[in-house]
Amino acid sequence: MHHKILIAGGGSAGIATAASLLKRRSGLDIAVIEPRGEHFYQPGWTMVGGGIFSKEQTCRSEASVMPSGVNWIKASVSGFDPDNNSVALKNGTTVTYDLLIVAMGNRLAWEEIEGLEETLGKNGVTSNYRYDLAPYTWELVQKTRRGRALFTQPPMPIKCAGAPQKAMYLSCSEWEKQGTLGDIDVEFHNAGGVLFGVKEYVPALMETVERYGIDLAFTSNLVRVDGPNHKAWFKTEDGEVERDFDMLHVCPPQRGNQVVAHSALADDAGYAEVDQATLRHARFENVFALGDCGSTPNAKTMAAARKQAPVVATNALAQLDGKSATAAYDGYGSCPLTVENGKIVLAEFTYGGNLAPSFPSWVLDGTKPSKLAWRLKAQALPPIYWDGMLKGREWLAKPVPIG
Ligand code: FAD
Repeated sequence: MHHKILIAGGGSAGIATAASLLKRRSGLDIAVIEPRGEHFYQPGWTMVGGGIFSKEQTCRSEASVMPSGVNWIKASVSGFDPDNNSVALKNGTTVTYDLLIVAMGNRLAWEEIEGLEETLGKNGVTSNYRYDLAPYTWELVQKTRRGRALFTQPPMPIKCAGAPQKAMYLSCSEWEKQGTLGDIDVEFHNAGGVLFGVKEYVPALMETVERYGIDLAFTSNLVRVDGPNHKAWFKTEDGEVERDFDMLHVCPPQRGNQVVAHSALADDAGYAEVDQATLRHARFENVFALGDCGSTPNAKTMAAARKQAPVVATNALAQLDGKSATAAYDGYGSCPLTVENGKIVLAEFTYGGNLAPSFPSWVLDGTKPSKLAWRLKAQALPPIYWDGMLKGREWLAKPVPIG
């Protein structure tokens, strides 16, 4: 099998890039390698855990999002051989290409927390980071009337760095509404040292923390769970700390995609090593990577992938035509922090944590909780994803020329 453009991974970034390529050049020979029959809108999982969306609203069939004209290879990549322009599949087949785009996401390393995998989905242990578990978060929120609720955040980089907090604030918002918040001890155990990496958003988040009476534990990293006995252990600067819990929401440690990490495409950390502006591979000029599997130091978000896909499409076509890259990615990422059911602090920033609001502050001030930002997340962003980003309609995502 040979294809002019081969895309490894048919998640958010892979499908968006295929659509953006076809929009620029219809009839292009593109194949997408993706083993899964379902396609997920992962940003919706926070809303599932908060009882706002059903899980079904966040899932469609992969066939329904595959752009027409694209060859879908329903298989898993098992290895890359960029010196020979070829990709090995788990089923034993080899596919060759003129140009490769890697979009295989990152890896959720559940197994790095001792005792976690066997208790997920029961004993009060949940995570919005899995489609099947997000409804259990909401079930637990509704069931918990008193006791202790723990929310965890592992070391960076993780996808959607705000998601562990979002789960906590939406839970607190519900307990506040039910009048039970005062009877529940809420703790946020964060392996890092700050609440959010871009300082302008921290005051609004600290107000939220104080409003809900949350105890913050920084440099506190979940290492072990005993589900049946409702105990969790954290590595801290003062040694290991044991906490009892009634509810435990876990954000798993995250790593580079395993296949990428074990290939010549990887940097030392296991991510596909690309130039942070052009998204072209550092050593193989006919390889690009984007989304959560890439080495770029942006916030790993869908919003980032939405901006990266047109950049990769533009530069990949230039490469095929023997021309230089013309488009640059500025590091844009976004994190809609659901501080309560009905209000969001909309963090938007580029490389280096420079604020990059999509709207003037008189319309929407992202540093303050706003109802408009909530409507954006709850009503506008899902259609922008399914009908815009995955269809090559590049709303608010025009690539910037290389400066
Ligand atoms: P994915 O969408 O994960 O796709 C990777 C694809 O590669 C998958 O389909 C997978 O099956 C495939 N793949 C993996 N291995 C192989 C292989 N060996 N061979 C072939 N295919 C393979 N982002 C936001 O912008 N805003 C938010 O509010 C937000 N909230 C989030 C909340 C949660 C709980 C989570 C989990 C994520 C959230 N995100 C949010 C992050 C966002 O969903 C991701 O950054 C985005 O999905 C990244 O897209 P991707 O294509 O790189 O990875």
